[in-house]
Amino acid sequence: MTETSLDLSALITACADTIAAHADELTALDQAIGDGDHGLNMRRGLEGVRADAAAIAAKPLPDALKAIGTKLVMTVGGASGPLFGTFFMALGKELPAEPGRAELNAAFAKAVDAVAARGKSQAGQKTMLDVLYPVAQALAAGSTAADIAAAADRAAEATVPMKATRGRASFLGDRSIGHMDAGARSSALLVRSVAEALGGNA
Ligand code: ADP
Ligand code: MG
Repeated sequence: MTETSLDLSALITACADTIAAHADELTALDQAIGDGDHGLNMRRGLEGVRADAAAIAAKPLPDALKAIGTKLVMTVGGASGPLFGTFFMALGKELPAEPGRAELNAAFAKAVDAVAARGKSQAGQKTMLDVLYPVAQALAAGSTAADIAAAADRAAEATVPMKATRGRASFLGDRSIGHMDAGARSSALLVRSVAEALGGNA
């Protein structure tokens, strides 16, 4: 991945468009086992990033990712805002300006660990981590962009039979079983957007 092949502005547009198109679905998922604000939260956050896209894309990649993270913390709200914000800030901290695939894999894995630390959470608790960890594994395994996107979708589906033990859905206990986690779904949507936009470079 070189600077010339990474069009951050196009990536931001793709992510914001996807979240806008799926906001109602994310809200419905969060209505089932949460408080129904995840679609609104994510749309507000991604529209905030979109509004700053030109300034963000003009920065070196690490600074751009930190700016995205800061914006998400300020705009998303809920439990997910600080967690997605942490993810992008950690990614910005770990990545060099022109990362290769090995550096991307390592930085992604560290960013997922940073989310887990921030959320005091781990895999298997029916959260966004249940998508982010499998994506880190797919990256480490050298999967193609298409395979990474498919792995993210499968991982979000796999949250359906899980019982939530972290986040708002955990208040429902066994009644959280049978619904997809909203943050897992939004994570998979973002992963697919980025993977498709990066195509063969991802
Ligand atoms: P809130 O739960 O405050 O209403 P959102 O609806 O925006 O916030 O986000 C909920 C999502 O955040 C959940 O679906 C889950 O994926 C994720 N989440 C919540 N708490 C945690 C946590 N401690 N660790 C990881 N992810 C979490
Ligand atoms: Mg919510």
